[in-house]
Amino acid sequence: MGIPLLRVESIPFSLEEIASDETKELVQSMWDTMEEYGGIGLAAPQIGISKQLAIIRIDENNERYPDSDESEEFVIFNPKITPLDETLQGFWEGCLSIPGLRGVVFRPRKVQIDYLDESAKNKSFIAEDFLATVFQHELDHLNGVTFDQRVSKLKWDMAIKRKDKLDARG
Ligand code: ZN
Repeated sequence: MGIPLLRVESIPFSLEEIASDETKELVQSMWDTMEEYGGIGLAAPQIGISKQLAIIRIDENNERYPDSDESEEFVIFNPKITPLDETLQGFWEGCLSIPGLRGVVFRPRKVQIDYLDESAKNKSFIAEDFLATVFQHELDHLNGVTFDQRVSKLKWDMAIKRKDKLDARG
């Protein structure tokens, strides 16, 4: 939680930057990092880069979220998120950047995400239910917001004593 970049608003990518080899390497290293920690999403500020990039993939073998459906792979640049259904739904959340802490966060049930993909093409995706929460959690990181700031109904599960490094997943 001590990483100051987690509280900073990230800078958008230019189209040229998205196409660069440097960015492709960055995306690859983010996939590697996410896999290493068993996460389902990762935002660039979490690895010290204050730019608008996040990746998401829900693997159905994920131990942390065993009941969730598998998702496609998302590489998301410069996203804009719009709630389509404001009905709040609560899920337990954790974060790779905040080890040992989990909490229930209530967020809109359905959101639309407009973004640029790895080829700098405009994409639009509608996420519902748990996947909507995952998108909102990751895209919050790009605005300098972490889930602990959104826990409204305090129901902390301090799992610090569990040595399981898999406690924090996004
Ligand atoms: Zn996170």
